[in-house]
Amino acid sequence: MGEAVQRVFVPSVTEEDGGTIGLGCFSSEETAWQVLRAFLKKSEQMLLTNCSVVVWDIDIVGEEAMTVLSTMECKDCPVCGRRTFWIDVDNFSALCHGNACSAWIEENTIDPEIIDCGWPTIRFLKQNKSIEEAVESLFRLGDRLKSVGEERMDETAAESMIDESTSD
Ligand SMILES: [Zn+2]
Repeated sequence: MGEAVQRVFVPSVTEEDGGTIGLGCFSSEETAWQVLRAFLKKSEQMLLTNCSVVVWDIDIVGEEAMTVLSTMECKDCPVCGRRTFWIDVDNFSALCHGNACSAWIEENTIDPEIIDCGWPTIRFLKQNKSIEEAVESLFRLGDRLKSVGEERMDETAAESMIDESTSD
């Protein structure tokens, strides 16, 4: 006999107009995250402001039954400009879920003082001293992509951008 479910994991997203979309209620945290990540791929077609994964303990009355595991905010992506850039405020990480973008920010795994950011399309990678600086780096990259035109970004242009970004 399987054990009765003691707690459930509930991912949800909030739209710009304030409406909340519940994505289901799951017996494992892993499944909740998978469902949420799959949904975030659609954020390109919607205007979302934030999302969360919440744990509910079963058969407990009141707000003690609820624990917020994680929340993320959605912003305009510094590189592609779409509202698909999800920022995990607690863990200092961010990822663009926009089609063919995947710009990201993450704490360095070795030195937590360093904040890495990158854009896989041209293997852009930069180390920064703060979140703000990382966001700024991605904005500068986005600006230059706009001025060059994304399609015309060849290897040489990409390399010179990477050189410039690592030399300061
Ligand atoms: Zn993007």
